[in-house]
Amino acid sequence: MIPFLDLKAAYQALAKELDEAVLRASRSGWYIGGPEVEAFETAFAQYTHAQHCVGVGTGLDALILALRALDIGAGDEVIVPSHTFIATWLAVSAVGATPIPVEPKLGSYLITAQDIAPHISPRTKAIMPVHLYGLPADMPAICALAKQHGLYVVEDAAQAHGATFDGQRIGSHGDVVAWSFYPGKNLGALGDGGAVTTQNPTLAKRIRQLGNYGSAIKYYNEELGVNSRLDPIQAAVLAVKLKYLDAWNARRQAIAARYQSAFADLPIVLPSTLKGANPVWHLYVITTPQREALQQHLTQSGVQTLIHYPVPPHLQQAYQSLGMTNGQYPVAEQYAQQVLSLPIGPQMSDEEVAHTIEAVKNFY
Ligand SMILES: *Cc1c(COP(=O)(O)O)cnc(C)c1O
Repeated sequence: MIPFLDLKAAYQALAKELDEAVLRASRSGWYIGGPEVEAFETAFAQYTHAQHCVGVGTGLDALILALRALDIGAGDEVIVPSHTFIATWLAVSAVGATPIPVEPKLGSYLITAQDIAPHISPRTKAIMPVHLYGLPADMPAICALAKQHGLYVVEDAAQAHGATFDGQRIGSHGDVVAWSFYPGKNLGALGDGGAVTTQNPTLAKRIRQLGNYGSAIKYYNEELGVNSRLDPIQAAVLAVKLKYLDAWNARRQAIAARYQSAFADLPIVLPSTLKGANPVWHLYVITTPQREALQQHLTQSGVQTLIHYPVPPHLQQAYQSLGMTNGQYPVAEQYAQQVLSLPIGPQMSDEEVAHTIEAVKNFY
C-alpha cells in the first residue's frame, strides 16, 4: 500500500539530527521559552521574509491570537473562503466575530480580490485568505483591496510553508500570517505547534503577551490572555526540519509536475495555479464527479487517498446556529462531493509516483 503520507519515514530520514535536537532541549533546563524557541523564531522570520515571528501552541491559536491582537470581536465580520479547513472559520467564531464566506471559482481552490470585493460591508474588519493545499493566493491584489477599504489581512498559511507569490514569500504580505506546525504540514513538529509572522512590532508584542496569560512581566497581567506557547522541544525539532524544507518542497513540486502532465488528458479537474504563484503542494487535490468510484479503485490498486474536506464549514453541525442551508455555497458543496487528494510527500519514491499515475490512468 502506498501511504497517503509517511510521517514515520520523514522522522527516520532525519532521526539522528532530530534525536540530538530533542536531547539538547531536554538537557537545557529551558522547558518553556528560552534559546531553542528564540532561535527557531529568528530562523523562521528570516525564512518567511518577516520582521517578527512569535511561536504559539497551534495553528488555530495563531489565527485566534492574530484576530484578538487586531481587536476583532463581537459585531465584526471577517471574510473567509467557503472552502477551507474549519479552523479558519473557528478562529473567527472564537473571537465572537462572524465569518462571511466567499466562494472560490470552480476549478480554483482560492478566493480572489475580485470574488471578495462584493462581500465587503461596513462591518467588515478583515480578510482572511487561505493558501489552501499550498497554493498561494494572490496577495498583492488582496492586500491592495484591503488597503482600499481600510481592512486588515490575516492569512491562514497553515498549508503554505515556503510558497511564494511574485517571488515574495508567503509570511511577509498581510498584517499577520498564521502558521501551523501540525505534524502533517509541510513544516511539521513532532506534536502540536504554531506561529505568527508579521512586519509589525506592536502586533508581535501583543500576540506574545496574549499567548502568555496577557502578561509581559511575570505575574502582572495587562489583559485577559491565554496560555499558548511554542514548546522548546518542538522548536528544536522545527529548527532542524526548516533546513530541509526547500528540498522537501522541491520534491513535492516535482511530483506535482509529474501528476499534472500525466493527467492532462483525463476527464478530471486538475489543480490550477495563479500567474506569479509558486505553490508548495501541501496536498495534490483533483476534482471529479466520479470521486467515490475513483477512490475505491485506487484503494484496490494499493494507493491511499484522502478527502480534504468531506463537509464544508457552513454545513457542519457546529455552524447550525448560522442558519446556512444546503445550496447556499454551491462551489464549496461541490468540492466536498468531488475532491480527492492523491499521495504527495517528500518521502514518496519515483516508483510510488509512477504506480499512482498508472492506477489513476487505469480507471479511465
Ligand atoms: C492545519 C490547519 C489549521 C490549524 O492548525 P492546527 O495547528 O492544527 O491548529 C488551520 N488552517 C488550515 C488551513 C489548516 O490546514
